Amino acid sequence: MVELRDVGVVYKARGSSLFNPTKVVAMEAVSLAVHRGQTVGIVGESGSGKTTTAKVMIGLEQPTSGEVVFDGEPVRRFTGPVRKRLGRIVSVVFQDPATALNARMTVREALRDPLEVHGIGSRAERDARVKDLVGMVGLPSSALDALPGQLSGGQRQRVAIARALTLEPQLIVADEPTSALDVSVRAQILNLLADLKAELGLGMVFISHDIQTVRYVSDDIVVMNSGRIVEHGPAQQVFESPRDPYTRSLLGAAPSLLAETPGTSTSPSPSPSTSKEQQ
Ligand code: ADP
Ligand code: MG
Repeated sequence: MVELRDVGVVYKARGSSLFNPTKVVAMEAVSLAVHRGQTVGIVGESGSGKTTTAKVMIGLEQPTSGEVVFDGEPVRRFTGPVRKRLGRIVSVVFQDPATALNARMTVREALRDPLEVHGIGSRAERDARVKDLVGMVGLPSSALDALPGQLSGGQRQRVAIARALTLEPQLIVADEPTSALDVSVRAQILNLLADLKAELGLGMVFISHDIQTVRYVSDDIVVMNSGRIVEHGPAQQVFESPRDPYTRSLLGAAPSLLAETPGTSTSPSPSPSTSKEQQ
């Protein structure tokens, strides 16, 4: 559905001057494909290039090198018409629903907007689609007339997810979709995304700095460090036998759900006296 081929993104560093430009390599030689119905988890610590990868995948950031292939078609320049077509293939859920939604638009308006922009359906069909969408994300129809400010963080993220689904995309890119939410609602949003993915047969790219969050929703896991992919494989393999030392450190840093990590056992071997007592 979406494939990155050897993609690099170089930014001008923030605060660098015209006479002394410094560069930030946000992505380097990243190759990655997401297929229909597949969930790919991208993990890595802050600054590793995850959001840049997400932006390239949805056509928001132009690669400095390499190319992006959408539905079999290589795209080198993201012009207006190309972006509009991409909008119907891939859509995004960002970390903070408060900034992703327009504070002055009611939920109904926010969900109707993409349909109007793309000229989809009659007025009655749009209204019906909007009602369906709020139901799909588990909100009551009374939420339709609410402004984002009148909703909780979890409800707002549900609206952002509904909005991402409006144009029936084939792929959703979710960039830290639960990180800004209260711990108590994180699992609900994660489950909602997993359910929608299964129901609608969507592809999903699920981005998190927390490898444990990604674990249960991903078929494949990609580990990024300093703009590069350091490990890529089936989720189970990455968890059970990580090849890269950085992946191992990520797994070690999280309160581990793994029974045992090699080399972490600190219990002393039985001393001779213990063995004697046992005899
Ligand atoms: P992550 O999402 O993993 O935290 P990002 O993709 O946001 O990482 O950032 C990767 C690197 O690129 C970081 O060093 C970040 O500071 C830098 N960066 C991101 N966006 C910009 C930008 N618009 N201008 C300059 N540097 C940027
Ligand atoms: Mg990010």
